[in-house]
Amino acid sequence: MAYDHQNIFAKILRGEIPCTKVLETAHTFAFRDINPARPVHVLVIPKGPYITWTDFATLASPAEQTDFVRAIGEVARLEGVTETGFRLINNNGEDGHQEVPHLHVHLVGGASAGPMLRRAEG
Ligand code: 5GP
Repeated sequence: MAYDHQNIFAKILRGEIPCTKVLETAHTFAFRDINPARPVHVLVIPKGPYITWTDFATLASPAEQTDFVRAIGEVARLEGVTETGFRLINNNGEDGHQEVPHLHVHLVGGASAGPMLRRAEG
């Protein structure tokens, strides 16, 4: 699947759609989710055109990958959830229920994330 440069996060990265920025580094951007599921709900995205974790793992440079991992840790620190805990969620593709086709990690915290996924019915 080719990267869609008109996806909503590509537009946010280009400044065409407003967002509430939390952190920006050389290769990574973090901003608040428009529909937060917990008091803290930040989306962390690479600046490069990667759709899924697989794309990022295979195509991104080591510098981009390192920057992304470190930025997620820094967002947790900035949001004050390092001690209280948080959950990272990354949805990929159809079965992952990924809505926006630009890699993003949800960092949610500030309240209990609840239990892990349950076994699907049927
Ligand atoms: P996904 O289901 O793809 O893992 O998550 C996409 C996330 O993007 C959702 O949590 C949704 O609330 C968020 N989102 C969708 N459109 C926008 C937007 O225009 N601005 C921001 N800040 N978040 C958005």
